[in-house]
Amino acid sequence: MIKKKSDKVLIFDTTLRDGEQAPGASMNKKEKLEVAYALERLGVDIIEAGFPVISKGDFESVSIVAKHIKKSIVCGLARSIKKDIDAASDALKKAKNKRIHVFLATSNIHMQHKLRKNKEEILKMAVDAVKYAKKKAEDIEFSPEDASRTEKGFLYSILEAVIKAGARTVNIPDTVGYSVPSEYGQLIDDIMNNVPNINKAIVSVHCHDDLGVSVANSLEAVKKGARQVECTINGIGERAGNASMEEIVMALKTRSDLYGCITGIKTPEICRVSRLVSKYTGFAVAPNKAIVGHNAFRHEAGIHQDGILKERTTYEIMKPEDVGFLGTGLVLGKHSGRHAFKERLKALGIELGEKELDKAFDRFKDVADKKKQVFDEDLLAIVEDEVKVFKKIWTLESLAATTGTGKKPMIDIKLRSKGKIYCKSGTGDGPVDACYKAIESITKINCELLDYSIQSVTRGKDALGEVTVKVKAGDKKVIAHGASTDIFEASVKAYINAINKVLS
Ligand code: MN
Repeated sequence: MIKKKSDKVLIFDTTLRDGEQAPGASMNKKEKLEVAYALERLGVDIIEAGFPVISKGDFESVSIVAKHIKKSIVCGLARSIKKDIDAASDALKKAKNKRIHVFLATSNIHMQHKLRKNKEEILKMAVDAVKYAKKKAEDIEFSPEDASRTEKGFLYSILEAVIKAGARTVNIPDTVGYSVPSEYGQLIDDIMNNVPNINKAIVSVHCHDDLGVSVANSLEAVKKGARQVECTINGIGERAGNASMEEIVMALKTRSDLYGCITGIKTPEICRVSRLVSKYTGFAVAPNKAIVGHNAFRHEAGIHQDGILKERTTYEIMKPEDVGFLGTGLVLGKHSGRHAFKERLKALGIELGEKELDKAFDRFKDVADKKKQVFDEDLLAIVEDEVKVFKKIWTLESLAATTGTGKKPMIDIKLRSKGKIYCKSGTGDGPVDACYKAIESITKINCELLDYSIQSVTRGKDALGEVTVKVKAGDKKVIAHGASTDIFEASVKAYINAINKVLS
């Protein structure tokens, strides 16, 4: 039964909360704010910015997002206890539109083993929490955690009670990713038919991808009347991740014949946000990932290519430009001027100040000298490499290395900081290792390298190489990147960026 309340499905993005809970995905405050701005531009209805009680860092991140985001509703998560609700409310103080999201586990497994409370106690706790939160904010969402494994009768009573207490949105999480589409759709249908006051609230869904069906579950729920979907960019999140926003949005759009629903998402922004999140979390997007993967719109088979050339819709169900897909064409070369460069960046949604533009343009000229064709992906790598959300305390001045089979690598490196040049020569297991040791010795920062990866930004032997490093210094973990047509230089730049991030 489709509940004909509204055709609009609200998009609740939890990239900054559940997404950030993914192992190794920590973002700093400035990066979180950048992502929040991108989500707002994308047209996200609600941004869950964090779990304020968890740590000082989380609290500050939610506060800073709350302060700057004006169009989207900013949401903070809280357990059903006063301390959490107070923290969420305090962090959201400056928000133009705020929501407090309160949760409490309701499945037998969780109630018995985790909370050690009986049903009556749980019901009271939930109602008390919603009432308390309601004093702090008008817009309250309640989630019975592990809802998909909760006894249905109890789930109906708790939903009825929290709606009566003032919850405007009730979310039905498949917290552990256990449910499958037919069953989950049935659950939403049953809730619609058995909770007497359900029309006073919006039913939301929150699915995890442990069995690879989080998007399918969410779509099935929309069919049954859910009007808010919780999701993340690139599907990042706890364990196997959350339902991916881009997939849900494009499924609803592409198959509107089936769902009859719309979202407020400006789909041409999708790829840009995907890239930003991938960059800041250090999680590469798989080439075959739906919607945003490198190959998502590339046709290889001859028969397909022939079909596409004759009529696009033979093999293409969506247009690449509808999701802002990059790499659809050649853009610039070494004869391109500053104006063309600026215009192309603008088309990619990047506006730089004059100083930053000059720097980025110089870099572009360098790159264009080395490689004939400069693609959109290259431009983004250049700009992101040049324009940082952190201070450049150390920069690379010059670099030289000799290495080879059976030879001990020797390197010479010069770094600049506050107008002074620092030199160091050295050796190591390889030229990169030798440089990293030299950089640590110059900057006097000791880092543990947790992860190192290299990817070519585009195709061809002259492609830009982009190195991503994850390092730990003390209790600080950072992710940084470096791009160059020389992978050795890219490796060194990534490490210097990491050091700069540790220092800022
Ligand atoms: Mn979750």
